[in-house]
Amino acid sequence: MPLLRSRLAAANDPASPFPLNNLPYGVFSTEGTAPRCGAALGDSVIDLEALEAAGMIDAGAPVFGAAALNPFMARGKDAWARVRARLQALFTEGCIESLPGDALIPLESARLHMPFTVAEYTDFYAGRNHAFNVGVMFRGPENALPPNWLHIPIGYNGRASTVVVSGTPVTRPLGQMKPHGSETHIFGPCRRLDIELEMGIVVGTGNEMGRPMTVAEADEAIFGFCLLNDWSARDIQAWEYQPLGPFQAKAFATSISPWVVTKAALEPFRCAPPEREFELLPYLREPGPMSYDVKLEVLMRPEGAAKATRIAHTNYNEMYYSAAQQLCHHAIGGCAMRTGDLLGSGTISGPEKENRGSLLEICWGGKEPFTLETGETRTFLEDGDEMTLRGWAEGDGYRVGFGECVGRILPAPPERDWSA
Ligand code: CA
Repeated sequence: MPLLRSRLAAANDPASPFPLNNLPYGVFSTEGTAPRCGAALGDSVIDLEALEAAGMIDAGAPVFGAAALNPFMARGKDAWARVRARLQALFTEGCIESLPGDALIPLESARLHMPFTVAEYTDFYAGRNHAFNVGVMFRGPENALPPNWLHIPIGYNGRASTVVVSGTPVTRPLGQMKPHGSETHIFGPCRRLDIELEMGIVVGTGNEMGRPMTVAEADEAIFGFCLLNDWSARDIQAWEYQPLGPFQAKAFATSISPWVVTKAALEPFRCAPPEREFELLPYLREPGPMSYDVKLEVLMRPEGAAKATRIAHTNYNEMYYSAAQQLCHHAIGGCAMRTGDLLGSGTISGPEKENRGSLLEICWGGKEPFTLETGETRTFLEDGDEMTLRGWAEGDGYRVGFGECVGRILPAPPERDWSA
């Protein structure tokens, strides 16, 4: 598919993350106005509430004045397609249909909020390179991949309460840990604070309890995708994770990007998943290509540094299980999925060292410090470090961009007597 040329010149710049092909949805406000739904186009935000009030777009019910995309997401795939087609027609090059005076807001003057209310958050572990690398470090190469891994998308139920939008600072967590070589467990600030580069899968429409869905139905229920940083406390994780998986190590923060890129915008970038080692059970088989070719990168900027250093780059197409498979599997036992459920893809690491999506892998458990362009070295995160995730699908002369997912580390809570 070529670039869809827009009446907004900035959207036709090949470097713009937000051409007319993209139209990601989010929630924004301007000085003195309430948060409402918008779509990014070029260097502007389209005020969807203003277009809806003028009768120019119609989701079947008034939905865009809400401070979350959930009401629109709940309208379902026909409404999503109708609104997208209408917006593309309205903003195509040559369209002279007049717009309400307040329909376009400069992106730079918009404040971006959480794009949707997270109903529940589930995190998967579907990247083979990541699962293997972490398994080698935690259990040794012989037991690196758990015996179920090639047959089932493994996940755990996370916390929706601490999913935050890009730009929200992240406080270093406190917790229990048993440092390497130590005889006893201790309490204190996490010393091995990490990131996980993931894709966030945004569920648009759900299923009733006890009424599972197929992979194809799950694919249709997905509204879109965002960048997701699953902040991780590795020392807390290593001590607590057996036998029920991560708990406090992952509960303190998960950051997402402010724009939700629709599944429709990613259609031209669908691709096949990696080769299957074993045939999957029939309920998990995909009726077509369900992976996506999305380039991803991680940048790190220490406090005070003028420039960030790119420390990793990889691709969403590395994932062994697709978003549709994960959603299908999540519901197959009878679990009800709801509008606004967020699934983390699992950490996305490629085959090479430069493709690793977590510091744990990049510094190999702390054994291999790496050097930033400032000359500083790192293993895990220091206070003041700012981490940025970026992603985009590369079209022919255009990009479908995800924008950025940024978070900066604040020091742990001040010391106090927790026994008081
Ligand atoms: Ca994760």
